Amino acid sequence: MTLQKIVKTLAVLGALYGVSVAALPAANCCSLLEAVLPVNILSIGTSNYTTVNNDYWSSSAVLSPSCIFSPTSPQEVSQAVKLFTDNQCKFAVRGGGHSSVPGAANTNDGILIVTEGLNEQSLTNENSVWLGAGLTWGEVYGYLGPYHKSVVAGRYYPVGTGLLLGAGLSFFGNEYGLAIDNVKTYEVVLYNGTIIHANSTSHPDLHRALKGGGDNFGVITRYELITLDTPDWIWGGMVYYNQSQLSQVEDVLYDYHVDIAVNDVKTHVLPQFGFNGTTNETLNFSPIFYNGALNSTPAALQPWVDAQPYKNTMRPTQVVDLATEFDAGFGYGLVQVQRTFTVYADKQFFRDVWYQFQVWLQGYKQIPGFYGLHCNMPVTPNAVQQGVLKGGNVLGMEGAGNRTLSILYFGLTFNNLSDTDAVFPAFATFVESMMSLAEQQNVRHPYIMWSYAGHDEKVIEAYGEENNNFLRRVKQDYDPVGTFTNLVSGGFKLPAPGY
Ligand SMILES: Cc1cc2nc3c(=O)[nH]c(=O)nc-3n(C[C@H](O)[C@H](O)[C@H](O)COP(=O)(O)OP(=O)(O)OC[C@H]3O[C@@H](n4cnc5c(N)ncnc54)[C@H](O)[C@@H]3O)c2cc1C
Repeated sequence: MTLQKIVKTLAVLGALYGVSVAALPAANCCSLLEAVLPVNILSIGTSNYTTVNNDYWSSSAVLSPSCIFSPTSPQEVSQAVKLFTDNQCKFAVRGGGHSSVPGAANTNDGILIVTEGLNEQSLTNENSVWLGAGLTWGEVYGYLGPYHKSVVAGRYYPVGTGLLLGAGLSFFGNEYGLAIDNVKTYEVVLYNGTIIHANSTSHPDLHRALKGGGDNFGVITRYELITLDTPDWIWGGMVYYNQSQLSQVEDVLYDYHVDIAVNDVKTHVLPQFGFNGTTNETLNFSPIFYNGALNSTPAALQPWVDAQPYKNTMRPTQVVDLATEFDAGFGYGLVQVQRTFTVYADKQFFRDVWYQFQVWLQGYKQIPGFYGLHCNMPVTPNAVQQGVLKGGNVLGMEGAGNRTLSILYFGLTFNNLSDTDAVFPAFATFVESMMSLAEQQNVRHPYIMWSYAGHDEKVIEAYGEENNNFLRRVKQDYDPVGTFTNLVSGGFKLPAPGY
């Protein structure tokens, strides 16, 4: 009998009788899995493997998994995860592949689970929708639009459901809160293959822990999201400003944080400043949205028009069309790196940071394809309160009281991975200096958003001690053998007590 046949026989026995097989190298883990679920495996060296493995937004996220597993049902995920735990096989899970952190959703020495085949979309009679973990937000908005429904979720078409484990900034966030707070049920495959539903009445601790706890507890196979009713059309588009208008835009975006987003919760704006190293040009291009069937710009959004955009695509439209429009320019295949931190909205600090980022960016503009992006993204008191009302999360934002928070995003793009060493450490140092400045100016809030954090940022630590203790207790209950700590590299891990 060949080694592969022995391995396959053991796998079948293991799967049938729950027998543990000794730890095996990744290639043998692939053989074990193939023995149980042969049609769902893409082997290294095949063209399908290469296509699927390159399907990441950032080229830095493309690694070399030993094989790729593409399940089509929660039961298949369950069989695989049990087998991985029993055999100590390393693995990674990919949703929409938009994390730029290398190793968050891919692996060099394990099996990559891709979720594309988990694509159920099913409305319930209880103002909710079940969504498979492999869907993108564009697909979801396309499905829900004809029913005049939507969900609190991502704003860009190809982004995936990993967003529902970190936080989730949305078109509807000022009114309904973060995306995680609108997850009614997580369907989770635990370390031992058990499939459970975590919601407010069943496994409520796990439900809360997943709202910010990321990939530390299980593989999510389906999400039940609260739906909201939308009108026949909504109002939105993109407003573009050139360099000469930027000072006025800075005023408008501050007012948006502390006034408009607070007082007219149907608005949403994502202010984005971009610096193009090749042309040495700085622009602002901001997605803008109003949840109402309007035929002209509402008063709440008029300041963005008064700031004289050189292009303005606002019109009556559909959410799916906006998700498509906003994603243009965020193509695949380039190196992407992101970092973030949070402040209380402060006009002078916003100006200081953006000015200093522009100065810093100038020093790297010779790097091929160099591009810098900076965003100020409000989380209003109502958005935080919505989270509390819907059962709470673990992000630790409640203490912000009646002040609007702003999540500051810093992103870099360039062509070649060979430039990484020249850029990444200096970028980290720059953003850390801005965090120090925020502390000096007394505007820093501890929160660090999972979805936009750099690989070495202390995301979970920033949730605060009480939330960390809670997460550790839940971890003990739902992943006692540490499958999602030891076998899944993932995004950010729960720190040890006393971090
Ligand atoms: C162009 C662009 C637009 C964006 N727009 C928004 C936005 O509007 N709002 C916002 O809040 N964020 C936004 N983000 C950030 C986004 O939320 C994160 O990148 C998020 O991680 C994307 O999820 P994903 O499924 O696409 O990513 P992936 O890289 O596939 O996954 C991210 C993390 O989640 C884990 N994960 C994914 N699926 C599962 C699963 N089923 N079970 C367990 N773990 C899983 C992965 O292992 C990984 O650690 C955007 C990012 C980009 C690049």
